[in-house]
Amino acid sequence: MGSVAENLKIIRERIAAACLRSGRDPGEVHLIGVTKTVPLDRIIEGVEAGIEILGENYVQEAKEKITALRKHNITWHFIGHLQTNKAKTAVEYCDCIQTLDRESLARELHRHALQTRRKVAVLIQVNVGAETSKNGVSPENLTDLFCYASALEGLEVQGLMALPPYYEDPNLVRPHFRAMRELLDQLRRQASRPERMTHLSMGMSHDFEQAIEEGATMVRIGTALFGTRSG
Ligand SMILES: *Cc1c(COP(=O)(O)O)cnc(C)c1O
Repeated sequence: MGSVAENLKIIRERIAAACLRSGRDPGEVHLIGVTKTVPLDRIIEGVEAGIEILGENYVQEAKEKITALRKHNITWHFIGHLQTNKAKTAVEYCDCIQTLDRESLARELHRHALQTRRKVAVLIQVNVGAETSKNGVSPENLTDLFCYASALEGLEVQGLMALPPYYEDPNLVRPHFRAMRELLDQLRRQASRPERMTHLSMGMSHDFEQAIEEGATMVRIGTALFGTRSG
């Protein structure tokens, strides 16, 4: 495994190539460096190499890393399962919560957003593969959750996020990526501000090129960037 800077360069080239193949502007695809279990010095290597958005799965880890990296200009996305009783900390520390998956969490995020006098950017996590092991709202219940969250003035719903099933052959994930894109298009037709509802967070180390070809605007990359996780 190379240095984070070398890995980043290769990933950027692969993102650009996937954009070229699918006629997309590389400027509309954001790379999120996933830092779960990654030690601080390795994260800093990435930040110094030019990573601007980081994603964390655990609230406590997020808090510590965000505090330690305050002087760097980084946007933080929360990408793990969020317990309702951790919503306050997540709102305090993170710029975007990608894992809104139920009304009770929407209510809590909204409440804490009002207390901090800002709108919190959220994505709705969809369990696109209908897997019992995974969080996310089912595609059937997505419209209801979207309408509910959109009516809360503390939240700004900016799009959808998914963690589709794993396949050895990443091309087999494409139908799930496509389903996500269709769900986003459907919601946009009902959205009062469709121009704000543009993000599709999907694709990881193993399948980000396929995700980009199918419309991802955020790819969340851990191992390909920082190396194999220890924990
Ligand atoms: C760990 C994780 C990733 C990154 O996975 P890699 O395969 O290491 O790139 C992306 N999204 C979520 C939600 C994760 O938990």
